[in-house]
Amino acid sequence: MKKIIVANWKMNPITLKEAEDIFNNIKESREKLLRSDSGTEVVICPPFTYIEHLDYINKNSNLKIGAQDCYWEEKGAYTGEISVAILKGLGVQYVIIGHSERRKYFMETDETVNQKTKAVLEAGLTPIVCIGETQEERELEKTEAVLEKEIENGLKDIDLSKIVIAYEPIWAIGTGNACDVEEAERMKEVIQKMTNKNIKIIYGGSANASNAEGYLKQADFDGLLVGGASLKSQEFVDIINKAL
Ligand code: PEP
Repeated sequence: MKKIIVANWKMNPITLKEAEDIFNNIKESREKLLRSDSGTEVVICPPFTYIEHLDYINKNSNLKIGAQDCYWEEKGAYTGEISVAILKGLGVQYVIIGHSERRKYFMETDETVNQKTKAVLEAGLTPIVCIGETQEERELEKTEAVLEKEIENGLKDIDLSKIVIAYEPIWAIGTGNACDVEEAERMKEVIQKMTNKNIKIIYGGSANASNAEGYLKQADFDGLLVGGASLKSQEFVDIINKAL
């Protein structure tokens, strides 16, 4: 399976100039990614307003543009929202759904994750659906139950072969406390058993240039979802190089 490295820029950077600089500084990787023999795809998910300014070359290259969220209706009176149709018109090919920050700060539920995931698939784009447990849930040994619920409800009636699942232990996101590679691999196998499908599963949570290889090679994840380290161009290039 093709590896996929996803950059989640979150609500960064503040100016378009900085966004363009970060993007232009991964040029070294862009040239490799443009070669058709590259077995890796890189998806940059910037804030919505930067999407059309980043020169993402063409849809058939291995460098893609993604979005960090969407709404499930196509158009209408939904102030402040953005639809998959609008994103598609900008060249977006992937949409992150159900990131833990959206669940925590914006009341996303498994039900809204389900609606959004369906809308993304109906438009012919690929959803990257985030699942993962909090520190407390892990300590209470509820990790597997949490993942099971997120998969059962969030991915109800969805063709799992068409989506990417991001296993993102919430306690590892933005903390510098990445999940041990062995434990991440065990969780990947748990998710594989739950989905019973040949499904793309990527890891996210303080991934960086030093630990990327462990997740990609040793634990054989299909890729990475990278937050903080994706804003540092050289580090991100180093991460991509581990996957090429
Ligand atoms: C994320 O936002 O999905 C993420 C994994 O962030 P970080 O890499 O900063 O932990």
